[in-house]
Amino acid sequence: MRLSRYFLPTLKDNPAEAQIASHRLMLRAGLIRQEAAGIYAWLPLGLRVLERIARIVREELDRAGAIELLMPTLQLADLWRESGRYDAYGPEMLRIRDRHERELLYGPTNEEMVTEIVRAGVSSWRELPRNLYQVQWKFRDEQRPRFGVMRGREFLMKDGYSFDLDEAGARRSYQRMFVAYLRTFARLGVKAIPMRAETGPIGGDLSHEFIVLADTGESDVYCDRAVLDLAVPGVEVDYDGDLEALIRAWTSPYAATSDVHDAARYEAEVPEARRLHTRGIEVGQIFYFGTKYSQPMRAQVTMPDGSARLLHGGSYGIGVSRLVGAIIEACHDDAGIAWPDAVAPYAVGLLDLRPGDAATGAACAGLYARLQRAGVGVLFDDTAARAGEKFARMDLIGLPWQLSVGPRGLAQGTVELKRRASDARIELDVDAAIARIA
Ligand code: ATP
Ligand code: MG
Ligand code: MG
Ligand code: MG
Repeated sequence: MRLSRYFLPTLKDNPAEAQIASHRLMLRAGLIRQEAAGIYAWLPLGLRVLERIARIVREELDRAGAIELLMPTLQLADLWRESGRYDAYGPEMLRIRDRHERELLYGPTNEEMVTEIVRAGVSSWRELPRNLYQVQWKFRDEQRPRFGVMRGREFLMKDGYSFDLDEAGARRSYQRMFVAYLRTFARLGVKAIPMRAETGPIGGDLSHEFIVLADTGESDVYCDRAVLDLAVPGVEVDYDGDLEALIRAWTSPYAATSDVHDAARYEAEVPEARRLHTRGIEVGQIFYFGTKYSQPMRAQVTMPDGSARLLHGGSYGIGVSRLVGAIIEACHDDAGIAWPDAVAPYAVGLLDLRPGDAATGAACAGLYARLQRAGVGVLFDDTAARAGEKFARMDLIGLPWQLSVGPRGLAQGTVELKRRASDARIELDVDAAIARIA
């Protein structure tokens, strides 16, 4: 992409309303624009990040055996009356009426709808287990939307739902998602710690929140530092095999949110030097809730002996849009964002430091074409701005590599390659630069 033809409305000054770094940087780097409290437009650069995150989420879920579908954002109130949650959910639910006075709602989560879909589409024990997920916008009329996309009212969530014949099966489904989440967050470049958690309005008796430690996080957490050093399962993990040992390794060190924190156990189990009481960002949560929805909604299958069996369910959320903020909280410095490679909107920023100069122009055009041919995402700053301004803008938007072409280097046949995160710079020839990035 040539910057001269792109839409990247960056801001020079810090927006007054932004209290934390990620919110400030997302506005300044032209990733988002607020349209109403907690409601954001995703500008082109921000959308690319959102999509890259969603893609990794999908890859890891698919690997773990989950199947993607897409449900509508609007749901009938009557569906939620079946589970009893329509009245119970409270003011976070956005309630809507259509022209026929039918009551609808903008989905804050989808347990009811997916249960209805599976109830209609599955009748025999042979068709289970199944795990269905979507990446879809949610609306929750949060009392205090804040910190930008971290706590929006409209936000993008991956929500998944498992259906099994019995509790043992449902626990295996839960374990698969537990492992898939470990892999997903690691690939996204963040360290998310699974912590025992309250089940809240989803219900159920087993739950973990995945928390990225950060001072600006809204969750209050307690853990054993030992959990920070555990190895994330590799791509060879067998989701059909026994995951018990892996789960045990990850759930043995103490880690709990303040809602379920047990101070006596914490002090007994965790040596003082390893105790960590800090704050964190909830980037995902998984629940096992048994027959909480299948029972009132009569979602059941026929067993081999002809009897009916209620489905055992779990649900699994990841805050896709919140992750953009969480990643920036973990990956930025005074100059701006420093994207992890896996989610960067473009891999490299190409800077023509002497716009109008025939030699730098030709060298940049050649580099741009070669990088594109190599399949490398490149944002080419071909604008007339001064070099200093170009450097500052590239640092702000945080692409992992910066490739600068100036007349002095070019005279010696070199360009400068800079790694955004470490600020390491080297002068090298064009072929070597391309080899380094591609
Ligand atoms: P929180 O405790 O932050 O209010 P939650 O526990 O209500 O979140 P869940 O129902 O567990 O949220 O939803 C799954 C995931 O969706 C959360 O782990 C979080 O990453 C994301 N999420 C929830 N609410 C919001 C929001 N208002 N804005 C952005 N992401 C959100
Ligand atoms: Mg909430
Ligand atoms: Mg929560
Ligand atoms: Mg939660």
